[in-house]
This record gives sequence, structure tokens and C-alpha cells, in this order.
Amino acid sequence: MLFSSADALRQFLVPLKQQDTAVGFVPTMGALHDGHISLIRASMAENKVTVVSIFVNPTQFNNTEDLEKYPRNIDKDIQLLEQEVLAGEDISHSDSLHVFFPSVDDVYGHSVQSAEYDFGSLTTVMEGRHRPGHFDGVATIVEYFLRLVRPDRAYFGEKDYQQLQVIRKLVADKGIPTEIRPMPIQREENGLAMSSRNGRLSKTGFSQASFIYEVLQQVQSDFKNKSVEQLYKMVDLAFAKNNNLSLEYFEIAEEDTLLPLKTKENTKAARAFIVAHIEGVRLIDNVAMKP
Ligand code: AMP
Repeated sequence: MLFSSADALRQFLVPLKQQDTAVGFVPTMGALHDGHISLIRASMAENKVTVVSIFVNPTQFNNTEDLEKYPRNIDKDIQLLEQEVLAGEDISHSDSLHVFFPSVDDVYGHSVQSAEYDFGSLTTVMEGRHRPGHFDGVATIVEYFLRLVRPDRAYFGEKDYQQLQVIRKLVADKGIPTEIRPMPIQREENGLAMSSRNGRLSKTGFSQASFIYEVLQQVQSDFKNKSVEQLYKMVDLAFAKNNNLSLEYFEIAEEDTLLPLKTKENTKAARAFIVAHIEGVRLIDNVAMKP
């Protein structure tokens, strides 16, 4: 079913909660692609009912132009869900998949503002440092949705790995009884991580953007034999030689704390993270380091 108001969704969920029906939740900003679809499929496999939210959350954008240019097409999204997930079934009659697309007013009323959170060092690095206020915006909207939907499980992509860790801390700190389920990154054939922002790239840009994953793979395969310092130098050099993309940051960080890895000794699980720009589009990606 389709819900545009929080009240209607809340009412719909009351009897399901009473019957202990397993509810899965997938928050998205729409412009759906196979990355989102993989989360939705996972939720549908593990829960009787899945709620997908489609909401471009203004408080998590620290750049007005990025917010304005963010692709929005709810009709196309619903069509895609019917084709890809429901195999032609009309979503307004489906009893397993429900789409919630509230308005900014409905969510925020007249005060489009984030709540304040303290996620410690999780938000002082990478996206937290480069996008001030971003995670307060993310946490505000995710907390709002989790309290509204009260899902048993919520699904988040590892593509936004820092976001995943922040949400894990959010539910732990606030005692929200939802299991957070991480899902692997889905990629285009050329290796580029799927993203709603990819649609803003020209054909050439799309093809050139595969460089990000190529570099990450290089880091992954050199991780055993090179020092952390050598890996940073290698990535800097690779981007310096590439005229199409500009590197915003590269970081190798511990998965748990997201603090930069200083040395490989006694290393816990680690990941390499890249944010780069091409044709005015900001792209994010990461890969796990194999010890
Ligand atoms: P977004 O609509 O970009 O806010 O993303 C909604 C959810 O889909 C987030 O949990 C993302 O991490 C996840 N997601 C986005 N792109 C991908 C991808 N390529 N593979 C897996 N998950 C993704």
C-alpha cells in the first residue's frame, strides 16, 4: 500500500504489531536502483511486512545545491518496485510491501531542524568532518522513522558504512529495539557503486567514475604488502594523475571506531574509504581490507 501520511501508516501498523507480525524497514531517499532493491528483497525474505520510506531528508544535506539537484521521481520508483519486487502486482493491493512517502511538513512541521546527538568519534571523521551536521540530520530522520514504524529489523547498505555505524550507535544509545541489518554494496558492471547520484553523470563520466573502485581494489590487494603510509601515497598519486576525478578524501579506518588506521600491527577489521567528485557529482565508496 501507499502511505503519504504518518498517521495513516501508524494506524495501519497497529494491528500488525498486536499480532506480532515481523516488520522490516528500508529507509531510502528514492531514485531507487538495484542497491535499494537488494535491501528491500532482504527485508521481504526476513519479514512478513516491509515498509520502504522514500523521503529526501533536507536536514542531512549541508549543501543546498546538492539537495535541490537530488533526483526525485516517486511514480518511477513505485513502477520499479512493482516491476522488480512485486513482479507486476499493483503496490496499492500488496500486503507485503508498503511505501511511505511523507512530505517535509509532515515530518518536520514548521521547524526543519535536526535534533542534536553525540556519537563521539564516529562522527568527527570522514563524512562527519566533511559534511558538518550531516549525521545529526540522518539520525533525526532515522530515529523518527524507527519510532513511527517500530520495525523488528531495519536494513542499511554498507555503501554508507559510517552511516551504518552511526545508526548502530543510535539504536544502542536510545534503546530502540530494532535489529540493524547491514547489506553488501551493489555495483554497476564497471564496478562503480550504485547510487541515485550516478544518474546525474554523462555516459563518459559514468565510465570514468569506475576509477574509484579500481583504486579501492588496488588498495585492497596491496594492503598486505604496503604500509598504511605507502597506501595513502599511492592513492594520492593515482588521483593526481587522473584529470577526470578529484579526490575529496581517502581514509583507511578501523571498522568499529572508524578512526584512521595508523599502523597495520594488531589491526582489527579495517576498510578503505573514498569520496571523489566528477562532473559536479559527489561519489562515495568503500571496500573491506583483507587481513
Ligand atoms: P539512499 O537512498 O542513498 O539514502 O540509500 C538508502 C539505503 O540504500 C542506504 O542504507 C544506503 O546505504 C543503501 N544503498 C545505497 N546504494 C547502495 C548500493 N549500491 N548497495 C547497497 N546499498 C545501497
